[in-house]
Amino acid sequence: MVIALETRSFFSTLLLKNWFFLLLLLVTAGLSFWIAVELPEGYRIVVIFFYAIFSLYLSFYFSWKIASTVTTQLKVLQEKTKAINAGEFTSAMVMTNITELAELAEEIDLMSSRLSKQFFDLNLEKEKFNLVLQNLKEGVVVIDHSQKILFCNKSVPTSLFEENAGMRSIEAAVKHPKLLEFLKEHIQQQREGKINIEARTKYYSVRLYSLKASKENKFFIGVILDKTEDRERQMIREQFVQSASHELKTPITSIKGYTETLESRLKLPDGSPEQRFLDAIKRNTDRMIRIVEDMLTISKLENSNTTIHKERFLLIEIIDRMKYTLDGILGPKKQIFETIVPENLYIDADPILLEHLLLNLIQNASMYSPPSSTITLKVEEKEDKILIHVIDRGYGIPESDLGRIFERFYRVDTNRSREQGGTGLGLSIVKHIAKLHGGWVSVQSTLGKGSTFTVNFPLDKKP
Ligand code: ADP
Repeated sequence: MVIALETRSFFSTLLLKNWFFLLLLLVTAGLSFWIAVELPEGYRIVVIFFYAIFSLYLSFYFSWKIASTVTTQLKVLQEKTKAINAGEFTSAMVMTNITELAELAEEIDLMSSRLSKQFFDLNLEKEKFNLVLQNLKEGVVVIDHSQKILFCNKSVPTSLFEENAGMRSIEAAVKHPKLLEFLKEHIQQQREGKINIEARTKYYSVRLYSLKASKENKFFIGVILDKTEDRERQMIREQFVQSASHELKTPITSIKGYTETLESRLKLPDGSPEQRFLDAIKRNTDRMIRIVEDMLTISKLENSNTTIHKERFLLIEIIDRMKYTLDGILGPKKQIFETIVPENLYIDADPILLEHLLLNLIQNASMYSPPSSTITLKVEEKEDKILIHVIDRGYGIPESDLGRIFERFYRVDTNRSREQGGTGLGLSIVKHIAKLHGGWVSVQSTLGKGSTFTVNFPLDKKP
């Protein structure tokens, strides 16, 4: 605040004081001249000397007076700005009688009160943010680029981080070696990432995000989620599916066996209603067996403990090995199988799973294509990947369904799929197998013209 004093412009004060000074000099000069004229010759020099001393003193006195009034008030302003700089917004009010300085002081005071309000708001926001962060269910850690922990909330598990992890280096604060290695590697390479960690009986998922504060400063935010319950639920679900599939497999196989025995004993004439019933039972038990087998396969592939047994082999070899099985699939519809595969292309994959993947795609291509059409298996090497395309000239898939066909039990045309003996699980299996190999699967299709399924496998360029 500025105390309202009667103020005067510095310029007019200076002008007024100068006039007064000049007047004083003139008067004293006149007086000295008059005295000097009256005095004898020898004393005149003394009067001139005293006048010179007096005028020198007068000019020094006036300069000092003017300078000191400005500098003392400037000093007060300087103190005030220093106080604001130090975050002290309630420092003494500025008093000045110089208009120019009074205006400046008023601006500084206004700035001080505005800054004080902004600081208050900022602190309030900070407190609120802190409160929210501290009470989050998820653990939150903020790490700077020099690998020092700047913030750590209450939910950060003590099995992963030391209790007072704040302001310590990750080397000293992170307890879990796998997590420490992940954090070091990602912060050094300035990368975001995700890792799953098992600590004691708990299971965590840690995601690392990067935040650019300035050109040189990058912060990393780690969010730790306790996935123990999810994982337990998933394991119960997996176990349930596995047990149910196993339990179903035995009675279905026995129904199939008894149906076949019944058929061979009864020797029913072809086309008779009883024979048609037996055929329907056989068809449906076969379908149930396939569904149970696919469910078992999916549950095994989805199991997080599943490890694949990768081998390095010539891709063409596995395709040759599938020839008889493919004849059985394509033969009844008299479809033509065409292969465009490089002779000496090696692939790193689990051969059993790769065969399963190819069979599923080729079986689908055959199921959803008319008789006598051609199905092409084309393999190409592109940069660091192998692309396997299964191309058919069949019914195609509507665009609206393309995004969902990899979901479990999703069928575009349920009746056609059932008629053809489909389970609705084939593409889901394909997707899982590709994922387990670090790849992915995609589809392109035109209704009435055909579909192309492309599987991408990472290429390991070993000699
Ligand atoms: P299904 O056992 O029913 O074939 P999939 O998971 O293998 O189950 O496929 C899901 C659905 O995607 C199928 O029901 C079918 O409608 C569609 N589909 C899959 N492959 C093709 C294809 N090559 N051509 C046309 N439709 C296809």
